[in-house]
Amino acid sequence: MKILVVNAGSSSLKYQLFDMDEGAVIAKGLCERIKIKGSVLTYKPTGKAAHVVERYMNDHTDAIKMVLDALIDPEIGVLTSMDEIDAVGHRIVHGGEKFSESILLTDEALEIIEGLTELAPLHNPANLMGIRACREIMPNTPMVGVFDTAFHQTMPSEAFMYGLPYAAYTDFMVRRYGFHGTSHKYVTQRALDKLDIDPESSRIITCHLGNGSSISAVKGGRSIDTSMGFTPLEGVPMGTRCGSMDPAIVTYLMEKLGLDVDGINAYMNKESGVYGISGVSSDFRDLAAAASSGDKRAEIALSVFAYNVKKYIGAYAAALNGVDAIVFTAGIGENDRGVRAAILSGLDYLGVEVDFDYNMTCPRGEEAEISLPHSRVKVFVIPTDEELMIARDTARLAGR
Ligand code: AMP
Repeated sequence: MKILVVNAGSSSLKYQLFDMDEGAVIAKGLCERIKIKGSVLTYKPTGKAAHVVERYMNDHTDAIKMVLDALIDPEIGVLTSMDEIDAVGHRIVHGGEKFSESILLTDEALEIIEGLTELAPLHNPANLMGIRACREIMPNTPMVGVFDTAFHQTMPSEAFMYGLPYAAYTDFMVRRYGFHGTSHKYVTQRALDKLDIDPESSRIITCHLGNGSSISAVKGGRSIDTSMGFTPLEGVPMGTRCGSMDPAIVTYLMEKLGLDVDGINAYMNKESGVYGISGVSSDFRDLAAAASSGDKRAEIALSVFAYNVKKYIGAYAAALNGVDAIVFTAGIGENDRGVRAAILSGLDYLGVEVDFDYNMTCPRGEEAEISLPHSRVKVFVIPTDEELMIARDTARLAGR
């Protein structure tokens, strides 16, 4: 069975083709600059050289056509015909309160997703463009939607309600939704596979630390709290996002800096976080290099990040009434050994005993257990695989 996974942005589209019988990716790539001069398709069949095709893409339909042409190309392709694709799985950012599971994408579902545009004005319309393009070209192929928010729909009201008038929730859908759900779910499942405990009573804290970062408290395999909120701006300070802060700062800085709504949004989303604090970069590799050559602000940015992640671990240990495992994933969580060490130091009160030497040497790109053998709390590094999760849900729902 072959599943195509599509992650459509407003001017880009990432794809991976899975052979589910082998459990392997057979080709993957990216369309960039859709509807912008200089459109380019990158296509990489597994184990073979990558190909780059520069041809203008008028819209997402053009982009998908180019992907399919590459996949069935007699020389570089991996399929003999488009009909070999059994189903397509689409990443969708926001499912609001409507979707707590992945779904088969019907006309009615697309309408509901469209209705949630206000909650994700940049992402949902782009995701819909990808879905509509695939439906147009592959009208008889089942399409499945996998939502970033779905895994967190199990949060109880005490975790998802803000301290605002109730009407903000009922009239304007203001509540915590959480994001990165597919990643938190994937690493939870992998951690449960490794833990010798009853999954129903398990208490896991998952730290998805990348350009955007979120931490989740997962009880019995279900999310009960997460650091991102109504939007991905809440939680720890991130690459360029400010994270949680006193809400009064918003109006104060609007006045001081003479910013309108778009201006303050750009300030908090694109100019803040570790980039804003350091003035160096949003990339943790650059920050580590700058800090080690004596840049004080880079050093502060790194410690602010680690301190805030540590605070969430403490908060979620309280919410879960203890912890069985802490998991690190995504670009920083999987690769930045120094940041992991800073987060994990001084958590011995919780029963976290880390093998700090192994933390600094464990191979990148592989699953690793970095706690000491007798540690009450296991600490894992688990590379995330959101595309595989989407492919699995797609295969299950398409019933193929
Ligand atoms: P993601 O959003 O999951 O792709 O994560 C991207 C971020 O991971 C980058 O901006 C870097 O800050 C961080 N990152 C990636 N590789 C490394 C590395 N080898 N060391 C430190 N940080 C890394």
